[in-house]
Amino acid sequence: MASLHVGLSRANLALVRATLCTCLCGLLLAMPSSSADEMDTSYSIGASRIDIHVDPGPLQVSSQDLMQWVHWAADSVTAYFGRYPVPEVRLRIIPTSGRGVRGGRTFGEKQGGSIRIHIGGETILAGLANDWMLTHEMVHLGFPSVPEEHHWIEEGLATYVEPIARVRAGHLDAQQMWFELTRDLHQGLPQEDDRGLDHTHTWARTYWGGALFCFLADLQIHQQTSNQKGLDDALRGILNAGGDIRQDWTLTDALRTGDEAVGVRVLLPLYEKMKDQPYDVDLGAVWKALGVEPSGDTVQFVDSAPMARIREAMTYGSAGARGPTKAPATPKG
Ligand SMILES: [Zn+2]
Repeated sequence: MASLHVGLSRANLALVRATLCTCLCGLLLAMPSSSADEMDTSYSIGASRIDIHVDPGPLQVSSQDLMQWVHWAADSVTAYFGRYPVPEVRLRIIPTSGRGVRGGRTFGEKQGGSIRIHIGGETILAGLANDWMLTHEMVHLGFPSVPEEHHWIEEGLATYVEPIARVRAGHLDAQQMWFELTRDLHQGLPQEDDRGLDHTHTWARTYWGGALFCFLADLQIHQQTSNQKGLDDALRGILNAGGDIRQDWTLTDALRTGDEAVGVRVLLPLYEKMKDQPYDVDLGAVWKALGVEPSGDTVQFVDSAPMARIREAMTYGSAGARGPTKAPATPKG
């Protein structure tokens, strides 16, 4: 059954878009001809396959650039989940006017999922290299579809996980990731008349309120496991229990499965606190404890901060906490 995800610009409230989500990954099997022509190609990775269809339309980027973009996003999602989340994905790339990636939709299907995503004809390779939206769509593949009142968990996960996934694959700088999180996460805090995540279906509470839940859960899992486990371990546990976008689960079943995977009770108790009442957080104090200090248009890391090791593990994973294995992508076009 399909589940609907409304996409967004993480920095721009105005760019609210309809999105249903899926994921992709793999080795290039066939290279297409011209980006102005209709094109079909496939990637495979492990037991998973991504079938890519590009609609006809003028694009500045080459077919090879588009395939590189797909590879970056697939690489990021795989780095976070440990594997590609579903066996098959149909990815439809639709040229449109303007510049940049312009919104996507992801749907669960019997064999996996399908993603539709628009790309402006004036987009250049650097725009693809900096794009977060395709990775966001792919993150949706790795979590079960839940009833509509919990839509915040689907968008919150994609919003929180996407930049971390790109950091872990070497496609985003960690300072940039933390800068954007400290800049944007406050949008998820409850406002006046808030009735909790299950009952306050605003854009900010759906995306950033959901991301706030995920951030707090990640932090608390690290705290309660002596920094040995994180939200990524909980999500991998859910995925490995069969909880991908093809499945309809209750939210409590998903959260219980995640708690069992990490061996501590964090997700369900946090949900109880945030589901039907405002739950305020002093984010400034949290950034300070993690050693994230805003500095102009970036952040400085304070390694003497009490939770600096937790910050590193949240960024790179508990097993590593050592930095990306690859340098960030450097687009040439
Ligand atoms: Zn989404």
